[in-house]
Amino acid sequence: MIDIDSIVIPEKLFEKMVKHAKNTAPYESVSIIAGTIKDKQALAEKVFTPENIDKSTVSFTVDPLILLEIYTKIDESDMEVVGIFHTHPAPPFPSGTDKRFMEVNPSVWLISSTSEPTKPKGYLLRENGKLKNVEIIFTDKTTLK
Ligand SMILES: [Zn+2]
Repeated sequence: MIDIDSIVIPEKLFEKMVKHAKNTAPYESVSIIAGTIKDKQALAEKVFTPENIDKSTVSFTVDPLILLEIYTKIDESDMEVVGIFHTHPAPPFPSGTDKRFMEVNPSVWLISSTSEPTKPKGYLLRENGKLKNVEIIFTDKTTLK
């Protein structure tokens, strides 16, 4: 089970996620963050912005084939999925559905309100089912792959 205290996100990558969120609003948007983990700190290095095929304001789904393509690319680049960013109706706290998805996708979950994509909160679901807050650190350094 992974343990992560903080996630470092280059501002350029975050801008890409915010742009995707704004383009997708009022529907929920999802971005998949690939990178590396070292000493309980995740480093975001690449972001994928698939379409929410639900076109819904209260849920998101990525086409399974697109998802497979993304995961294959991440594997081939010697990275792993370090975070999943999505926007949803306020407040930016995991919903019951999010928690079930968090169980099968153990990485940092970044959530913003659909109306305020620039203000994400980070969470990790622990083995005991409790949520841990993960610090989000923005950087202007670029270590992009
Ligand atoms: Zn959600």
